[in-house]
Amino acid sequence: MKKKLIIAIDGPSGAGKSTLSKALARQLDYLNIDTGAMYRSVALLAQQWGINPHDDAALKKLCTGLSINFVYNDGLGKVLANGVDVSEQIRTPDISLLTAQVAASPSVRDAMLRMQREMGTGGGVVLEGRDIGTVVFPYADIKFFLSATAEARGQRRYAELLSQGVAIDLQQTIADVAARDAADTARTLAPLMQADDAVLVDSTQLSIDEVLKKMLAVVKDKETELAAKRE
Ligand code: C5P
Repeated sequence: MKKKLIIAIDGPSGAGKSTLSKALARQLDYLNIDTGAMYRSVALLAQQWGINPHDDAALKKLCTGLSINFVYNDGLGKVLANGVDVSEQIRTPDISLLTAQVAASPSVRDAMLRMQREMGTGGGVVLEGRDIGTVVFPYADIKFFLSATAEARGQRRYAELLSQGVAIDLQQTIADVAARDAADTARTLAPLMQADDAVLVDSTQLSIDEVLKKMLAVVKDKETELAAKRE
């Protein structure tokens, strides 16, 4: 029987992580864990509870006993925070920016790290985020670092938000994406960083199908390598 792998996909916003990790998980019949959605859920609850994003003690309280679950219905994934479907609310530009602040909190990172390790340890998972290959699963079987130029990433985020009916400005979206990446890269704890042993994929000039093909080839090579070791 094939070993069920742990696959990490990290990279900045708008690089195509969500689409590709979903597609990869579907192809492999693995579970897709969108760790950004977990941080977004914390940010949404912090906003609802009126918590200052720099108040680590209050965020710690929020995370105590917090449940975040992914449920799949007819191929559609939903995020439940404390049992409430927050899938749409967590995707607004406001929550995106607030998330990057909340994600710098040591208590939030600690709580998310524990949850993510619990969800992924058994393998058969594709986890997407910023620190999966460096901090959450440094021993992941495969690590990808997905990137694209800031322009391309801003354009993609803009198109995505427009398709959801969110009224936004292209230049503002590009600036927001750049601000969020700067915050994610500069933070002390678990910053956005390419792991030394990650496979770098630049998606600027590639279609989703082309990137997926590259990723599947890497998975196949890894499966062959592991099978040869077991023989
Ligand atoms: O991937 P997504 O854009 O949904 O992530 C939202 C935010 O969550 C990121 O900008 C980052 O601040 C935070 N995040 C993180 N670590 C992860 C995943 C997301 O800090 N593993």
